[in-house]
Amino acid sequence: MKTTMSEFEDPRKARALRAMMGLVNRQLRVIPFVAGKLWTVESSMSGKPREYTVAHGVVPGFTWACTCPDWQKRHEDCKHILAVRLLVEQQV
Ligand SMILES: [Zn+2]
Repeated sequence: MKTTMSEFEDPRKARALRAMMGLVNRQLRVIPFVAGKLWTVESSMSGKPREYTVAHGVVPGFTWACTCPDWQKRHEDCKHILAVRLLVEQQV
């Protein structure tokens, strides 16, 4: 049986790690918009800088939401949400 690294990789953990790296490398910038509810996340991870809005408890049915294509497609915490959560949870 051949094993590869990806078999050990939990996609959620991989995404959290990417979010953390983004923050450390300053490729992700989190700007509070409405305290505890809305954040603007600037991402320059894939070349062109883009801005997304992360919402907490704003979109019905979802605790966390984001305006990026990744979240729109899967409705799972994307790296922007994870970046916000990392910052928010650090501050609590
Ligand atoms: Zn996102």
